[in-house]
Amino acid sequence: MSGVLASIGSLRRQALPAARFAWARATGKKHPLMVTLSVTDRCNFRCEYCNLPDMDRDEMTTAEWIGAIDELADAGMMRVSLMGGEPLVRKDIGVLIDHLRKRGMNIAMNTNGWLVPRKMDEMMKLDLICVTLDGPPEVHDKQRHKGSQVRALSAIELLRSRGKNVVTMTVLTAEGIKTVDYVLERARELGVRSFFQLVHDAEGDPDKEIGAGISEAGITAVAEHLLKRKDEGWPVGPSRTYLRALAGKNGQGVRRLHSCDDCYASRYFMAITPQGDVVACPLTFREKSFNGREVGFLQAFEKLGQPQASGCACYPLQEMNYILGGASEVIFNALGTALGDLVTPAALPPAPPDSAFDEAPETGHGFTEKSQRRLPLVDSRVSEIR
Ligand code: SF4
Ligand code: SF4
Repeated sequence: MSGVLASIGSLRRQALPAARFAWARATGKKHPLMVTLSVTDRCNFRCEYCNLPDMDRDEMTTAEWIGAIDELADAGMMRVSLMGGEPLVRKDIGVLIDHLRKRGMNIAMNTNGWLVPRKMDEMMKLDLICVTLDGPPEVHDKQRHKGSQVRALSAIELLRSRGKNVVTMTVLTAEGIKTVDYVLERARELGVRSFFQLVHDAEGDPDKEIGAGISEAGITAVAEHLLKRKDEGWPVGPSRTYLRALAGKNGQGVRRLHSCDDCYASRYFMAITPQGDVVACPLTFREKSFNGREVGFLQAFEKLGQPQASGCACYPLQEMNYILGGASEVIFNALGTALGDLVTPAALPPAPPDSAFDEAPETGHGFTEKSQRRLPLVDSRVSEIR
């Protein structure tokens, strides 16, 4: 209940900024309502589907991030998502969170969960924590890091024991789509909602394949399966609107739910890269942008054009598109997530059998060559935390 009260308090704090946003929206002006802060590319993992840590872009200093936060908070920023890489590898993450709280932000963080137990003071100041959970250990650890599934589950358990609002995010790969029911069962036990999104290109290029290895029929099958589970009362996070759009028509699942040219990114939400480039979203960093350290963060946002890439199926970003488009079902669904334990169903049906998605190729559960090479990284990188 304390989590709910905190969430309500956070919503009340934001009444004035919300009114400012409504005015900007009504008058067709840009407004940096929600901002993703990609604070680092560094990460203690090397997941199969992500090459972000190899980008190793320059990082803004603590003072530069605080300057960016102040400028955007003054301009009406209400919600911040802290992302990486792994945001918890930044030594100053607590300083940034304290400053965001001082500025009245609603703060979410995406994390792989590994460092959560040693960063609990910081975690307690967040409004929403998203921990990646790709399935049982043989799927999760193979795609992410050996031993990481059990650590992700214990991180969630620890956070929930302290009353934090937690969700899981599952990257749907060809193998992972077969285990969505496993994720839902763990989510139900832990009292969290589970979100799912198709695997995107490892380089974060929205023009490249989305949902690699999954057929259109496979996308439809998993989307319809999640819709069914949601109707049954399982803690399926994505809205029905999103899942229906993903399912497509006539078994032709959809890989991009909005194209970049009809996306609200660059008008009402944006991202800042580790080195301070102001971009429409974390996937469009290759497009023309301006650096906030050079021209100011608000000015860089004002100058940012509509992105031109093909589009994506990233859940939080597409949810924003639906919300800003006034989709009431998505708005209520998002409020349910924000309020956390208010919406946990009291009675649930028995655990479902394992779902079977025939389109997904059967693969072994051994560690691949790439994941074997990644194994020593966690402990060596953790000791290098700056
Ligand atoms: S945890 Fe995995 S997916 Fe997340 S940034 Fe690190 S390597 Fe990428
Ligand atoms: S559709 Fe929007 S969120 Fe997705 S890649 Fe394009 S600009 Fe980014």
